[in-house]
Amino acid sequence: MHGKWDSKRIKKEGVVKKLNNENQIQKKLYQAYSIYYKKETAISFKNLEYFEMISYTVLQEDDASNVNVKICVGEAIDVQEDNELAYAIIQAIFIHIANNNKKYAFLILDWYYDTGRVDNFTGSKIYDLQESNNDIHSFNIIVKNPHIHFVHNCRATCTNGHSENNTEYLYNEFFYIVV
Ligand SMILES: [Zn+2]
Repeated sequence: MHGKWDSKRIKKEGVVKKLNNENQIQKKLYQAYSIYYKKETAISFKNLEYFEMISYTVLQEDDASNVNVKICVGEAIDVQEDNELAYAIIQAIFIHIANNNKKYAFLILDWYYDTGRVDNFTGSKIYDLQESNNDIHSFNIIVKNPHIHFVHNCRATCTNGHSENNTEYLYNEFFYIVV
């Protein structure tokens, strides 16, 4: 883990530092333990520590094929879901100490959905972020480095940085440089 968030950054990102029974994030973390680790025990440790980046190695049967993965907050990823690819943006990366005193890393994802519209100028598909997001997942779902390019569908409201009221993104299939 690299680049631990200080309390100022945590506040800016609006993430939960301390779990409690009222916040939805505790329920989602419980679900994530259940889905990914088959653990269904009460969550005793209440603190979350957030980081800017995580790197890890995905082991293959043949050592030479091991993959070193590096993921940063703000990157877009693709995840194979049933037969199709789903896309998400990484909102946060955190670690939590489970009841066995081991640390587990999770990520908070916001999922994109295809609006069915296409940008007139670039021909790119327009995606929007789903509501009721902040899903917690294990890093098990990411086994390769991100190579997905979404660019904000900037409008006049993006003057001082990107407007947060506009959650539309263009799926940049062709990897050209957007200026
Ligand atoms: Zn923008």
